Amino acid sequence: MIRTIAIILLALSTGGAGYFGWTQKKSSTAATAQVAELTEKVEEADKKIEAAAEELAASKELLPPLMTKVQELDAVKAAFSTGVVLKDLEAAYAKEKKGLSPERQLGLAGVRLLTNGTKDPATVEAFQKALEMTDWKAQQKVICAAQNALAAAGQKVKVMSECLPEGAEAKKDSHGAPAGKADAHAAPAGKDAHGKDAHGKDAQKDSHGTASTHAAHWEYQGAMGPENWGKEFPTCGRGKSQAPLNIKGPFEKVRFNVAPDYKQGQLKVVNNGHTIQVNVPGGSKIRIDGKPFDLVQFHFHRPSEEHIDGKPSAMVIHFVHKNAEGELAVLGVMLREGNENPGIKTLWTHAPKSEGPEVVPDGVMFNPANLLPREMDFFHYDGSLTTPPCTEKVKFYILKTQVNVSKEQMAEFPFKMNARPIQPANGRPIYTN
Ligand SMILES: [Zn+2]
Repeated sequence: MIRTIAIILLALSTGGAGYFGWTQKKSSTAATAQVAELTEKVEEADKKIEAAAEELAASKELLPPLMTKVQELDAVKAAFSTGVVLKDLEAAYAKEKKGLSPERQLGLAGVRLLTNGTKDPATVEAFQKALEMTDWKAQQKVICAAQNALAAAGQKVKVMSECLPEGAEAKKDSHGAPAGKADAHAAPAGKDAHGKDAHGKDAQKDSHGTASTHAAHWEYQGAMGPENWGKEFPTCGRGKSQAPLNIKGPFEKVRFNVAPDYKQGQLKVVNNGHTIQVNVPGGSKIRIDGKPFDLVQFHFHRPSEEHIDGKPSAMVIHFVHKNAEGELAVLGVMLREGNENPGIKTLWTHAPKSEGPEVVPDGVMFNPANLLPREMDFFHYDGSLTTPPCTEKVKFYILKTQVNVSKEQMAEFPFKMNARPIQPANGRPIYTN
């Protein structure tokens, strides 16, 4: 369990690339307040344990709800208390010769705080210093990483609504539902993630439904469709190496190959409102020109975003990888209409039909290699994330060999159209091996 947390924390705190994009616009003060709240909560946990003991004597009726809170906070603290996460993180960072980025420093300081508690003034001071050095997105990422990691590891922990998948936020916005509703998505999470129940005064500064905040959302059609993504996400509109591309010759030749080494692991699948995404446990890798990248997640588009000679395929799977430097590489496997795909059959059995939290079906294992063709010949180009915030410097490797998906399986995919249109190549070469 601790291993899972370490991996997720590492993945999130070493990235900067916004793939996990927390795209809401918020003032840095609000984010700082949230971080301060986390610190406060750890402190409060201690107080609450004391208070609970007192209240046990005073009133036995008050105790059960209070104890639940104490246990939740204890779960957070307990998960970090062995120091294994901290050691993992320190060891990983120690290997690097160059100085740590502010984001990494904050990640480290955050884990230290959760491990050592707030009793040590030096730890608290280091955390606050790291906080000042980073922007709000990084700060929020650390909190979300910790919360989501604990939730994913099966710990009973509240997840702030800001930490829910983007789609959950978008939905909340468009329905204008009260903030508490969105929290319901986050499984054991609840509205008092902000400690509101404990101290109502914080209601003012949290993001729930207040006029000062706005969750930027996006869709594949209409006013929030791809033509308008650039209004909220500048790179989507102004970027010069955006994806997807129409793949057509002449091609330039490269000599390297891509070699996946995917492993079987616990299936974790989420409907995030934009796609079906499978979050991959650590251990699956791909080597590109000999360099290792970790497989983080894979997801589906219908029809395929990439076109070959002007034509899309029925669907595409994007396998998203990240290396130690935070660079992203996407392996694309085009799906053509044909026989039933047994791998997809397993996924569709467990994938939620509508937007919601990640599901982890008990004992269901999945090997992403089951979705790959035998031949690994590819087209390659430099592109971007194909969803907001459309971050560039993402390397694409689109396999030439397609795999089957049945008509029925296509119909079962909950998104009728979730493909960004073809983007201008702007003179970018397309390579082939
Ligand atoms: Zn994709």
